[in-house]
Amino acid sequence: MDAPIRSTDETLCHCQEDQAHFLERAFEQLGLDDSRRRLLLHSFREISVQIPLEVQRNGQREVETFTGVRVQHNHARGPFKGGLRFHPLVEQGEVRALAQLMTWKSALADIPFGGAKGGIAVDPRQLSTGELETLTKRFTQKMAPVIGVHRDIPAPDVGTSPQVMAWIFEEYSKTNGHTPAIVTGKPVELGGAEGRLEATGHGVAFLTARACLGRDIDIAGARVAVQGFGNVGMHTARRLAELGALVIAVSDVDGGVICESGIDVLEASAHVAECGSLAGFRGGDPITNAELLSLPCDVLIPAALDGSINCDNEPGVRAGLVVEAANMPVTHGADAALKERGVEVVPDVLANVGGVAASYFEWVQNLQQLPWSRDALLGRLEEHLARAFDTVIALREHRGVDLRTAAYELAVARVLRAVELRGF
Ligand code: NAD
Repeated sequence: MDAPIRSTDETLCHCQEDQAHFLERAFEQLGLDDSRRRLLLHSFREISVQIPLEVQRNGQREVETFTGVRVQHNHARGPFKGGLRFHPLVEQGEVRALAQLMTWKSALADIPFGGAKGGIAVDPRQLSTGELETLTKRFTQKMAPVIGVHRDIPAPDVGTSPQVMAWIFEEYSKTNGHTPAIVTGKPVELGGAEGRLEATGHGVAFLTARACLGRDIDIAGARVAVQGFGNVGMHTARRLAELGALVIAVSDVDGGVICESGIDVLEASAHVAECGSLAGFRGGDPITNAELLSLPCDVLIPAALDGSINCDNEPGVRAGLVVEAANMPVTHGADAALKERGVEVVPDVLANVGGVAASYFEWVQNLQQLPWSRDALLGRLEEHLARAFDTVIALREHRGVDLRTAAYELAVARVLRAVELRGF
């Protein structure tokens, strides 16, 4: 297994600090006073719950107590919306920053949702399926008073899956009646949207191609490296390969592979589906995550966890374009250094916005009880993404700022407008 993704000089809560830095530039562009800044930064509600669970450890039953959190940041533009993360490092500060990011992302995509995030500090790989189901259902019971179809709608994130969403749907429906719209990212058989599973990666690939165009790089033949081969990384790589890009390296928590002539991404996906990770995949030479990040290539796509590109390893980055498929994979220090070197960063708030946009489409289908086809969903998704991308590019040109500042400025202005229209 590779070393932890974060650099030693950055705390677990670096997300909050990064977010504050990125927002500061947008706040300045908008000329916001302190009271408005505080209003926009504060969470609406933060909850932490205790979830005791009997687990099997070394052949013995013992009670372990897990901590679950949900942060609801802002709902001026619509119900709170955001993923649930099952990971040992889940903690309130990081979740708070990710909840904020969801608010800006929904606003940037111009969909009627606010922002939230949550999770449980647990390594799901250490639990049996039965234990995971019980843990998820107990978490749902404790969150039930504050979630709801028009209140807060969870979705999958790192370490959670359509199956986890199905368990939440079941538990919530016990007391509220059949409520598929309580979560998005469900299995298709239970009202999940065709195309939702691959939507975030599809969107990342679509925006990567647009960003390449702006740099006179043809996506067909572009050399791309992708860190993280879970839902987002795998579907990004698959779509990029369909668009003709050469995916020269991919990796996950257990390490990666490189193949200069292009990895067979479908074979790699099949290997992960069968074996649970890229370990043992023979479609290239072994490579570490650190080596992948410093490969000479046209596009580098961090699609794992936050903080993967930080001040320690930024000097090694040799790609001309970095597309943030993960949330907050580039720390603010590394972001400034990349900018200084002329490396363009397509920020998370724009790059992976396909996830929340597709979630919105699933929610709409559930409310209307009218399913759409996969093509209809991905077609609408591309329209939304193209509009968001073009608007951010236009603002960037107008203001003479970087993409991230332009994206944040646009999103913050939309949220503030909604807050002011509704009144305090
Ligand atoms: P996932 O759990 O499906 O996949 C995560 C991947 O990262 C796995 O391949 C895992 O092995 C790898 N990984 C974990 N730790 C690593 C390490 N230390 N080094 C290298 N690789 C490591 O999660 P996902 O849903 O693909 O989410 C990935 C990122 O994208 C997260 O930041 C998430 O918040 C963000 N995101 C996800 C969605 C979505 O729709 N799933 C939408 C928007 C943003």
